[in-house]
Amino acid sequence: MDMDKLVSLCKRRGFLFQSSEIYGGLNGFWDYGPLGVELKRNIKEAWWQDMVRGHDELVTPPGAPSAYEMTGLDSTIIMHPQVWKCSGHYDLFHDWMQTCRQCKRLVRADHVWNMIKEAPWALSFAETLEVTNWGDKLRFNSLRTLQWAKNKGRKTAPNLAIVRNPEVTLSWLSEDLENNPNLDLDLPTLLQYMATEQKAQTGLQTPCPHCGGDLTEPREFNLMFETHTGAVQTEESKTFLRPETAQGIFVNFKNVLDSTRVKVPFGIAQMGKSFRNEITPRNFTFRSREFEQMEIEFFCHPSESRQWYQYWRDRRWRWYQDLGIPEGRLRLREHDKDELSHYSVGTADIEYGFPFLAENEYGELEGIAHRGDFDLRSHMEGKLVKNAEGCLEVEMVEEEGGKKRPKWKGSGRDLTYRDEATNERYTPHVIEPSAGADRATLAFLCEAYHEDQAPDEKGEMQTRVVMKFHPRIAPVKAAVFPLVKKDGMPEIAQDIYRGLKKKFSAFYDEKGAVGRRYRRQDEAGTPYCITVDGQTLQDKTVTIRDRDTLEQWRVKVDDVVEEISQRVS
Ligand code: ATP
Repeated sequence: MDMDKLVSLCKRRGFLFQSSEIYGGLNGFWDYGPLGVELKRNIKEAWWQDMVRGHDELVTPPGAPSAYEMTGLDSTIIMHPQVWKCSGHYDLFHDWMQTCRQCKRLVRADHVWNMIKEAPWALSFAETLEVTNWGDKLRFNSLRTLQWAKNKGRKTAPNLAIVRNPEVTLSWLSEDLENNPNLDLDLPTLLQYMATEQKAQTGLQTPCPHCGGDLTEPREFNLMFETHTGAVQTEESKTFLRPETAQGIFVNFKNVLDSTRVKVPFGIAQMGKSFRNEITPRNFTFRSREFEQMEIEFFCHPSESRQWYQYWRDRRWRWYQDLGIPEGRLRLREHDKDELSHYSVGTADIEYGFPFLAENEYGELEGIAHRGDFDLRSHMEGKLVKNAEGCLEVEMVEEEGGKKRPKWKGSGRDLTYRDEATNERYTPHVIEPSAGADRATLAFLCEAYHEDQAPDEKGEMQTRVVMKFHPRIAPVKAAVFPLVKKDGMPEIAQDIYRGLKKKFSAFYDEKGAVGRRYRRQDEAGTPYCITVDGQTLQDKTVTIRDRDTLEQWRVKVDDVVEEISQRVS
């Protein structure tokens, strides 16, 4: 699927707009238009219904160790700054970034090569050397390299060493490479050579993905947005926009226990905005600076935590498929040991093959993490770290005079749990399925986009763009059209429309040729279109048209609401 076509459809039909577009836009921020807001809301509601409200706590679901309860929560975006100190975000929630010395742009160190692989200048150079696969071995060709540097390179990568200073760079470059035919050379290595003016002094350089310039050494960069609470802006008044919704759940663990009759095992779910000052927001809404999360913290007995981890991993894996993403487009990836957070026993990502990624590359939709008792203990005792034996202990810092104190003190509240049946007291372990509402929305948009051939009003076959959303998440469930604007057809159609509106989102349209109206609904992803025509006036039936099969059938006017309800539920 061509991503540009989807991006343009999203704007044209009102799924997504760039934030503050009339002022040139703000990078990493997106607004949902009239269709987009319905789509995203339906996805969030499906999640809430399936995970929380519709959950049956009386039966043991397949694959689960026992029955369990689910509750919801809505905590604030700004919380006490100590929350982020004890959670580890204040000290550890950072990425490594590099700055281009020439164009001054920032790039995330671990994204540099992926960005270079997509950069127009690197692609055009690859084309010049007729390299199709980045890993393929190649022979250096000084003439072609120089020609490229003086033409396309000058326009697209003005700060690449070979473009800035072609003669000097090329002289040692050809000496190094042409006299050394056995050198194991591939495109990334050659690009590093081309970015390096003085290899002896600097070693091989990695070029800036934007302009080819040289990048500084990676530096740490905290991703939390800072703000101040109250009129005076001091270090003490500094607060943060939450980078995840999860911590709001942990700090309310005791409140939920005390105010409800939930017993372990149980889960608390929350969805809401999170903020991360991403260094390189990109790929449409995939990496934004303001986004929504749908998170569950599931509290269980330590002895059962592995089984619960598996249960949630499988449960969440199936959820995306139930809403229409085929298994073949998804990947379940268990993290390697060295990828795990310092507290985690196991983490798996559910990933989707987004069309903007290379073939066989996948992007994270959701992470399911076994967090042990790290979070609850941190908020009780103070910020925890793993010691040499791999056990969690409160992180200490040394003050002047050699005295030690906890780096960040916990709340001191008792966040343990007492099992009334056995009288056992313990700190529950936590399984966290953490999903992104915007990434899920983007995946459902990508998956829905189809082009097929369908007859137009004159019966001629035309390319049709159709968004094949699962009916549960489709922004509009049904559209109603009078064939013509006379003979009482609009009145009948409006009555049907009002009946449908009481149950779900419906759309009424009487403008233009009916074929065109169908096309507009296909692009919006409306599963059913209902048309009132001449026959309706005689026998009180209407046609219903199926978006995907294009099949049409007649139904009594009085039965339309029931028929559509059944089909979209
Ligand atoms: P990534 O590695 O892609 O930065 P992450 O592992 O940091 O993601 P988590 O901290 O596990 O992400 O967040 C849970 C979920 O929140 C992710 O699976 C994703 O769906 C969503 N999410 C995280 N960061 C962003 C973002 N910048 N834009 C949109 N969604 C995001």
